[in-house]
Amino acid sequence: MNDLHLGEAAISRVTELERWPFISKELFPAITDEIAERAARDLGPRFVDAVTGELILSINCYVIRAAGRIIVVDSGNGNFKERPALLAHHRFDTPYLERLAAAGVRPEEVDVVVSTHLHPDHCGWNTRLEAGRWTPTFPNAVYLFGRSEFEWLEALFRSDPDDPVLADLAHTFADSVEPVVRAEQAVLVGEEHVVLDEGGVRVSLRGMPGHTGGHLAVDVYGGGRHALFSGDVIHHPLQFAVPELAQGGDQDPEQAARTRRALMEECAADRTILLPAHFPGPAAGRVIREGGRFSFDWLPD
Ligand SMILES: [Zn+2]
Repeated sequence: MNDLHLGEAAISRVTELERWPFISKELFPAITDEIAERAARDLGPRFVDAVTGELILSINCYVIRAAGRIIVVDSGNGNFKERPALLAHHRFDTPYLERLAAAGVRPEEVDVVVSTHLHPDHCGWNTRLEAGRWTPTFPNAVYLFGRSEFEWLEALFRSDPDDPVLADLAHTFADSVEPVVRAEQAVLVGEEHVVLDEGGVRVSLRGMPGHTGGHLAVDVYGGGRHALFSGDVIHHPLQFAVPELAQGGDQDPEQAARTRRALMEECAADRTILLPAHFPGPAAGRVIREGGRFSFDWLPD
């Protein structure tokens, strides 16, 4: 996408994977035929495969440049991570680093890495494989982890779960989080945390629980505008029509639905630019509210 400018802040999208298809009932277990058909009709084949009916996601990472700093928001799935139960996350081999370079960012220039949460597709490029070892991808960065999210994943890892899906999540700690701690690059933060407040730009974190208990959103304010990185509060634009529709990975589906609806209401009321993790390009847009119904107005790419 063209960089989005909020005063002195510039935001770039770096898409790790454009097309990440899911069987609709695997992504949203409670989806009805009616919801799926309406989504196919209203959103079209970029979002709902016309032949298979699969729902199409992307994996978007974002870069904020402000006050001479470079901040990465969510680092995607990462390459060569072993996720044998979570096959959609298993053994990626994407040109993420080349795309980062195309956005003008070298890993050693990154100052801060933020993860909205610690599912495998949001912190994978925290590390890369070098000489057989998982090594921080961004050697000079501080990696900010929400304390409760970090503690949840660390406890899961220490419990050595037998369940194969939980084992894959636990392994995310071993290959994408623990190496950052070992390199003394990890900082645990609370759910209200200011990352940067300088030169008329403010970047801050806040809790948006439900998908995970410690899920964070990232706010950027600059030039009188507001953009919000929503991580996995919302997965697919069909959820604007049915905000209560839970994603299969929502840890607390009811809390996730409340958080999602509150996000939509806030974005619609404030004309906030929403930067979702998983919408196919152009990804960014504004939430429109008409009566009780929400829809999405995409920004041009
Ligand atoms: Zn995700």
